[in-house]
Amino acid sequence: MNAKECLNMLREIKDVVFSTVDEEGKPQARYIDVMLVEDEKLYFCTARGKDFYRQLVRDGSVAVTGMNKEFQTVRLSGVAERLEESEQHEWIDRIFEANPVMNGVYPGDSRYVLEAFCISEGTGEFFDLGKEPVDRESFSFGGTSGGASEGTKVKPAGFLITDRCIQCGRCERACPQQCITDFVIDPAHCLHCGLCSEVCPVQAIERLGD
Ligand code: SF4
Ligand code: SF4
Repeated sequence: MNAKECLNMLREIKDVVFSTVDEEGKPQARYIDVMLVEDEKLYFCTARGKDFYRQLVRDGSVAVTGMNKEFQTVRLSGVAERLEESEQHEWIDRIFEANPVMNGVYPGDSRYVLEAFCISEGTGEFFDLGKEPVDRESFSFGGTSGGASEGTKVKPAGFLITDRCIQCGRCERACPQQCITDFVIDPAHCLHCGLCSEVCPVQAIERLGD
């Protein structure tokens, strides 16, 4: 699944979880509709009176996740930007055209209490729990043509067998997804559960990332 397919999957799921951080630094999550996906950009809207709106305007950092009926998930993190003031009505009209159900929720001109936001760059991961073995793939989207910006750099994650390995085979036998072969972890099928690291007698398996 590439970035475009992952964003389209979030649009198909439509009601997905958006998480932000409030003014006290506490996490807050809620379901929000993905209203449009175009050119690897994800559009949504919210009303000016909502806490979610205030959190977006103050910081913009957002994490999004959704799961479909096949137990496939997409999660991403990026920065949500409020679209230009002068274009807000146009975007809200476009959003309502693509999502007619919104007319019942915000009839008439009440729709303009909503404002449109766009996530145009970020990183994410596709995770297929419905397959055996599980499947996972990282992706980034957006950024400048001159190369990846900080927000689109995929961070290392998972576990790595280092050269401290004495080839005892314990991790391979313990791995619930059998994704260790010849003392190498296949990241595409790894759960990131850490069991391999726990059973290693010589601490040869390192956790990647933060
Ligand atoms: S983290 Fe879990 S799934 Fe991944 S290689 Fe280690 S034991 Fe296997
Ligand atoms: S458990 Fe540790 S030492 Fe044994 S094979 Fe795995 S990485 Fe190597």
